[in-house]
Amino acid sequence: MSAPLLTVENLEVFYGAIQALKGVSFTVHEGEIVSLIGANGAGKTTTLRAISGLVPNIGQISFAGENLNSVPTFKRVSLGIAQSPEGRGVFPQMSVLENLEMGAYSRKDKAQIKADFEMCYQLFPRLKERLHQMAGTLSGGEQQMLAISRALICRPKLLLLDEPSLGLAPIIVAQIFEIIKKLNAEGMTILLVEQNARMALKISHRAYVLETGRVVMQDSAQNLLNNDEVRKSYLGV
Ligand code: ATP
Repeated sequence: MSAPLLTVENLEVFYGAIQALKGVSFTVHEGEIVSLIGANGAGKTTTLRAISGLVPNIGQISFAGENLNSVPTFKRVSLGIAQSPEGRGVFPQMSVLENLEMGAYSRKDKAQIKADFEMCYQLFPRLKERLHQMAGTLSGGEQQMLAISRALICRPKLLLLDEPSLGLAPIIVAQIFEIIKKLNAEGMTILLVEQNARMALKISHRAYVLETGRVVMQDSAQNLLNNDEVRKSYLGV
């Protein structure tokens, strides 16, 4: 197998005296959907924030062969890492279009940017209908679509998705997960953080289970879906 696109080794993160991550290691290969699953507070969001450079960490993060430790967030975006944050993080007082434009702020390839906007409108036609509406007035599902689109406009090689199902009705969750699957089928590598372990495992190739800042299990998504411990603890079976 080729070298991983992302390698995380012995990641530790502290919030003051609280140690949120206690030596987390995992890999993501090009073309994969890899999920991090686990209960509230297990450290999933913190892991994504460390990869994006939003919290200081101990340990090593490498992306496409480059050590990211001293690379600031904006450069990580230009290297190809984009995050759609938990709670969506759209700018509520800005229009849908302005939110999308924020995703393109570091790009200069105008023709390609236009094509990428069109790609997002095709993925999420609702956004095109609401281009001039304030993002804060969108429904939760539409805000999630906007957050994912804004990340896609960065043209990432690796898309970090934090809890895309959070607070959404099951039918909208199903739509969002279909889109995630489609993006991956078209070549996008995805690291997905989800409390909805069943949905995440159904579309993932592999997954890691986090418990209080540690990886306690890792396997193919299919094996984890059939694992008794996972079924009892995370799938409510
Ligand atoms: P959730 O799904 O609730 O976001 P999570 O698995 O993503 O859970 P994290 O948000 O990464 O977990 O939190 C990991 C640990 O770090 C938890 O104990 C949490 O209380 C703590 N934590 C997270 N953010 C902060 C912060 N800004 N200050 C202090 N402690 C924090």
